[in-house]
Amino acid sequence: MADVSYLPYLQMFVFFSGAVTLWELYLDMRQMKKNKETSPPEEIKDLVPLDRFTKSQTYNVDKRKFSIVSSLINLASNVFEVVYLWPILWELARTLVGENEYYRSIVWQIMTSFVSMPISIPMGLYSDFVVEARHGFNKKTLSLFVTDTIKNLALSIVFTSILIPVVIWVIHWGGEHFYVYIWAVCQCLIFVFMFLYPTLIMPLFNKYEKLHDDKLREEIEQLASGLEYPLSKLFQMDGSKRSAHSNAFMFGFWKNKRIVLFDTLLQITATLTKDAEQELGIEFEVVKGKGIKLTALKGGETTAGKWNEVHVGRNDELKVGDIVVDIGLEAGKLSRKEVAEGETDDKDISEKVAEEVKKLTEAGSKGPLNLILERKPYSNDEILAILCHEIGHWFHAHVLRMLIISSVHIFVIFRLYAFSMNSAGLLMSFGFAADEKAVMVSLSIFMLMFTPVETVVGFFMTVLTRMNEYQADDFAVKQKRSAELGAGLRKLCVENLGDLNPDPLYAWFHHSHPGLVERLQNMKQKDILINGEQKKTN
Ligand SMILES: [Zn+2]
Repeated sequence: MADVSYLPYLQMFVFFSGAVTLWELYLDMRQMKKNKETSPPEEIKDLVPLDRFTKSQTYNVDKRKFSIVSSLINLASNVFEVVYLWPILWELARTLVGENEYYRSIVWQIMTSFVSMPISIPMGLYSDFVVEARHGFNKKTLSLFVTDTIKNLALSIVFTSILIPVVIWVIHWGGEHFYVYIWAVCQCLIFVFMFLYPTLIMPLFNKYEKLHDDKLREEIEQLASGLEYPLSKLFQMDGSKRSAHSNAFMFGFWKNKRIVLFDTLLQITATLTKDAEQELGIEFEVVKGKGIKLTALKGGETTAGKWNEVHVGRNDELKVGDIVVDIGLEAGKLSRKEVAEGETDDKDISEKVAEEVKKLTEAGSKGPLNLILERKPYSNDEILAILCHEIGHWFHAHVLRMLIISSVHIFVIFRLYAFSMNSAGLLMSFGFAADEKAVMVSLSIFMLMFTPVETVVGFFMTVLTRMNEYQADDFAVKQKRSAELGAGLRKLCVENLGDLNPDPLYAWFHHSHPGLVERLQNMKQKDILINGEQKKTN
C-alpha cells in the first residue's frame, strides 16, 4: 500500500459519485419509459383493472420524475458540502469549542447535518404534499411534518452526542487492533438499538394500541401458536396518521415477539378536508347505534367529489350506501377508543358521527374529518395469510442472517479504515491538514471513498432480500394459504399503486420485493409442488 497516498482522491470521489448517480438516472429513465406505456403487460391484464393500471402508471411517472430531479440536486449538494464545507466547518468547530477532539467532532457532525437541511426539508415537503398528496396517499398535516422533523433532528443530535465519543474513545484506546474492539462495540450498540427502537423511539412517532378486533386477535393468536411462533404482544398502529400506504411488521428478541398491524390494513378511512367555500357533498341518515349511512354523494367541486376523484376504484372511494361507523377529528385520534373506554356508550356513536359530519355541511365551516367505514379493506383470512408470510421470515431466520452479514460488513469497513486512517494524501485531498489525527474526519473521508463498494454491497443485499421474500411466500404456501396471500398481495399492490409495469433492469437493481406477477406465479407453481399430492389424497 506504499504509493496509494498520492492518488487524486477528491477527483476519484467526485467521479464515483457522478458515476453512481448516472447509473441510477439511467435506470430511472428506463423505468419511466415503462411507466409511460398506456396498455398493461399481458400477464397483468387479468389481475388488475385498466383504470387501476393507469393510476399506478401516472403515480410512478410522478415518483420517477421526482427521483431524477432529487438525485441530481443531491449529487450537487453532496459534492459541494464535502469539497467546500467540511474543512470550513471543521475550522469553525474549533473556534466554537476549541481543540478537544470529542467536542469538536460532535459539533462538526451536527453542523454538517444542519447544512443539508435547506435542501432536504423542501424536498421532503414536495414529496409529501405534492407527489404523494396528488395521488391521495399523504395524510400528514403541515404541523405533523414540522413535529416529525423536529423529533428526528433532536434524536439525531442525541445519538450523535452519545455515539461519536464512544467511537473516538474506542479507536484511540484500541491501538493497533482497534478494529476488533470497535467492531465488538458496534455489535453491542446494534443490539441495544434493536431493543430501544421499538420500545422507545417508535412510540415517539406513532400510537400503539391493543388490536381492537377481538375475533381477528383470536385468529392471529391461533395462527401463531399453531406455528410455534412466540407471539407476546399484538398491536395496531395509527399508520393512517401519515400515509394511506398499508403494512404489517414484527420485531422483538427470541421468545418475546411482537406483531404490529397498520390501521390501514384494518379499517378504511376517508379524510375529507373541506375549504370554507366548498360544499361537503354528503347526504346521510342516522343508523341508530351504528353511525351514519351515506344516502347521496355529490361529485364535482364538493369535498366528497374531490376525494372520490383521487380515490376512484380504490377501497377508500366513498359510495352511496356506505356506513360510517366512526369519526376522527384529527388523524389518529379516534372516538372509538373513547367508546371502548366507556366515556360514551354505543348509542351515542350514531349521533356523534352525525353531529360532526353535519358541522362540516354548514356554510363557512372548514377542516379535516376522518370517516371510518364499516367496510373492511382486507378479509381476516387475507391478513392471516400476510402474517403467515411474515412468520415465514422468522421461521427461516432471515433477520438473524441479515445481522450476520451486516456484522461481517462492519468488520470489513473498520479493517480497511485501519489502512487509510493516517493517509496524509487522503486528508489533504479533502482540504484537511496532513497531520489531522481526528478519528471522525478520517473515518468520514474513508466512508466517502467507500461509496462505490457500498453501492455494490447494497445491491447484493437487495438480491438476497428478494430471495427471502420467495422463501417466506413458500412458507405461507406450505400452510395452505396461497390463495389468500395471493389475494392480499394483489390488493396491497393495487391499493398502494405499486409498480405494475417494472423495467427488468430497474427492478433487478432496486426492488427489494419481487414483482406481483412473479410472486403469484411462484406461489402457483409451489402450490402444485408442495400441496398437489395432498390435494389428490384428501
Ligand atoms: Zn416479506
